[in-house]
Amino acid sequence: MINLTKFSSFFIANWKLNGDFKFIDSFLKQLKITKNNKKCIVIAPNSIYLNYIISRKKNFFVSSQNTSIFENGAYTGEISSTSLNDLGVDFCIIGHSERRQYFNEDDETIKIKAKSLINNNIAPVICIGETIEERKNGKTEEKIENQIRKCIPDNSNNGNTILAYEPLWAIGSGLTPSLDEIDKTHENIRNISVKFNNYAVLYGGSLNVKNYQEIVDLPNVNGGLIGGASLKINDFNQIIA
Ligand code: PEP
Repeated sequence: MINLTKFSSFFIANWKLNGDFKFIDSFLKQLKITKNNKKCIVIAPNSIYLNYIISRKKNFFVSSQNTSIFENGAYTGEISSTSLNDLGVDFCIIGHSERRQYFNEDDETIKIKAKSLINNNIAPVICIGETIEERKNGKTEEKIENQIRKCIPDNSNNGNTILAYEPLWAIGSGLTPSLDEIDKTHENIRNISVKFNNYAVLYGGSLNVKNYQEIVDLPNVNGGLIGGASLKINDFNQIIA
């Protein structure tokens, strides 16, 4: 398991169900990672390409986009944390709103997955965030605290788990909360209890070349989970520079 406390920021490229061998070859050829031991760059391809990317790893880490709640057994089609560990995967995104929406991932299964990942030396990147209705009704804080209390297993700590605040309405929409709102939400997450004081909390949701600097410079933001902009190599290079 990588010790997360040695990094001050994390930039995770969530490629979702995009990319193929040609895209990966071209992306990695152009990827510019300046040597900075404090900055952790992570690529999350779809699982078919994990092995290929791991075999071409240079100055970055690799993340899965999902894991099974099961570690082995008769569960056709599943990919377990034990096999991800066997492959050399470092991180795994769980609780992404797309998985919650389309694949019935809920807080209970996220907690099981997080526990299994940590037990297998993989750092979970646990996504949380409110809907637009919840924000309009002043329920953001309550929703996020609820998700965190339900999703984080006992074996989680700031050295093995990352949190990613991703307002659902900001993902892929071009919209973001204000800088003050982002910073306040991250601060609230850290203040839920002393356990969370030192967790890395990333922002995700329409992070791009125009807005990333102001967002990642916020005192309570430790980097970004990047969807659309991570598929454009020039944009991604600029964001991680
Ligand atoms: C995401 O899906 O995690 C994400 C942040 O997407 P985008 O950057 O495209 O909003």
